Amino acid sequence: MANSVMPSPMGAPACEKDAKALGFIEEMTQNVDSVQEMVLREILTQNSGTEYLSRFRLSGATDRGSFKAKVPVVTYEDLQPEIQRIASGDRSNILCSQPISEFLTSSGTSAGERKLMPTIQEELDRRQLLYSLLMPVMNLYVPGLDKGKGLYFLFIKAETRTPGGLVARPVLTSYYKSEHFKTRPYDPYNVYTSPNEAILCPDSFQSMYTQMLYGLLMREEVLRVGAVFASGLLRAIKFLQLNWEQLAHDIATGSLNPKVTDPAIRECMSKIVSPKPDLAEFIRKECSGENWDRIITRIWPNTKYLDVIVTGAMAQYIPTLEYYSGGLPMACTMYASSECYFGLNLKPMCKPSEVSYTIMPNMGYFEFLPHDPSAPPLSRDSPPRLIDLADVEVGKEYELVITTYPGLCRYRVGDILQVTGFHNAAPQFRFVRRKNVLLSIDSDKTDESELQKAVESASALLREFNTSVVEYTSYADTKTIPGHYVIYWELLAKEPNKAPPNEVLNRCCLAMEECLNTVYRQCRVADNSIGPLEIRVVKNGTFEELMDYAISRGASINQYKAPRCVTYTPMLELLNSRVVSAHFSPSAPHWTPERRH
Ligand code: AMP
Repeated sequence: MANSVMPSPMGAPACEKDAKALGFIEEMTQNVDSVQEMVLREILTQNSGTEYLSRFRLSGATDRGSFKAKVPVVTYEDLQPEIQRIASGDRSNILCSQPISEFLTSSGTSAGERKLMPTIQEELDRRQLLYSLLMPVMNLYVPGLDKGKGLYFLFIKAETRTPGGLVARPVLTSYYKSEHFKTRPYDPYNVYTSPNEAILCPDSFQSMYTQMLYGLLMREEVLRVGAVFASGLLRAIKFLQLNWEQLAHDIATGSLNPKVTDPAIRECMSKIVSPKPDLAEFIRKECSGENWDRIITRIWPNTKYLDVIVTGAMAQYIPTLEYYSGGLPMACTMYASSECYFGLNLKPMCKPSEVSYTIMPNMGYFEFLPHDPSAPPLSRDSPPRLIDLADVEVGKEYELVITTYPGLCRYRVGDILQVTGFHNAAPQFRFVRRKNVLLSIDSDKTDESELQKAVESASALLREFNTSVVEYTSYADTKTIPGHYVIYWELLAKEPNKAPPNEVLNRCCLAMEECLNTVYRQCRVADNSIGPLEIRVVKNGTFEELMDYAISRGASINQYKAPRCVTYTPMLELLNSRVVSAHFSPSAPHWTPERRH
């Protein structure tokens, strides 16, 4: 069949459908600038009557010059009054002229709550379009993916309604619940082992259990194993570690764990479960040992690659995934957010350190703020000069600024990207980091001020012991699964014989967690993707030693500030060698899906 298919400059497409998708990528990447001009014109024309755009008196202009001259660059905080009105039920054309279909809850937070992104129905088509490009690119590098299945651990999360009645949920929950996903046409290159019933089950245990069970039952057919982020795949491995006996029992007896009560799952399982004692025995043999090295390839021997994002904050998981997979390639296929899906990796089998994403110019209008950490903050009086997608320069770093069909105009996403090269006229970007994120284990993002507030709140418990926190720093410990936050405290006890007892320091851990944002607490409580927070009390003088060490490596004495997060191994070793006691949260913090309005 491949012989009759139109070739693509990117390689030989696997089928006619792929040829079309690759042709589309070529067209978009060759005409980046004209597509961007057209996208901006379309967005400004569609939304010309909105309250927001009317403020800037574009007088019908839809060109880049007028737009850049008149419309300000904004952050989420700037748009919060408009977003609050939409959430409260104001249906007038505030940001967008099309009806807002729902809110997407980003993992970024504002005042401790998830950011709310208004979206419109047609965005689902745009997201779907980007998804439809991923396998055609993958098929160029990995042949034969139509001969088996993908074991993907995919989950939905809790959703709520805003006071005005609109649904608010994460973008992937919105996508998995959409007809685009649920009734997707059969595609031999994109068959999952997980049934929709399991993916759509709101109970995370039942969902994971069923997805793992299907993955085990179809172990020989599995050609790729994945989750959205690396942390999700590691959670699945941990789940197998904890539940293999029950899973093997179900497989041996052809029954289903009574803890799985979801009627839709039980109905679909009843069609496929029959006793498979040999398979159960194999699973017991592989899982009962101490050694979990290469467990993925032992259980799923035909796996060709892992499909997980390991760029950005997820890079910390690469060594662990290498251990469990025996060094299988890790494909980072796409770069997306709740606000907008951006682009894809055209060389998905490259090493994680070499991943670059090509932003597709049809997804939104993209601008780039040159990133200079030493520059003063932006002010309204001296507007920054933003660069267009086609004009960014190789080697430079930029902050991504987007204008979208649902009505975000010149919105700062908060991601820092570096240009690594071009595909045709389309720049390719390495994800450098997200601004202001100190700690991250899963989808949580904790910044410096959140950590500071949490430390302040917890240290109030020490007052009655005449003790204070003189210095602190932190570390995202991902050696354990799930990972957890470690906070190093140096204490000053003014009355040494009245030092705070262990029980109080444990409560300090919980007090910190109560103070962290809703995404952190959801990961802790509902997803179990973050373990209990740990405080490690270090010997007096440790932070001075840390300073001496930093200065010996060239830090300036005058400007030295204790780092609020440490990742450099020698510094961590120093801290760990000075620990006098370690304390953990005795229970989970509070979390409910409801927002604090
Ligand atoms: P959210 O707003 O919760 O949808 O999260 C979107 C954010 O996740 C992006 O702005 C990035 O900071 C991060 N992200 C998404 N895709 C990737 C990727 N492929 N590599 C690194 N970070 C990513």
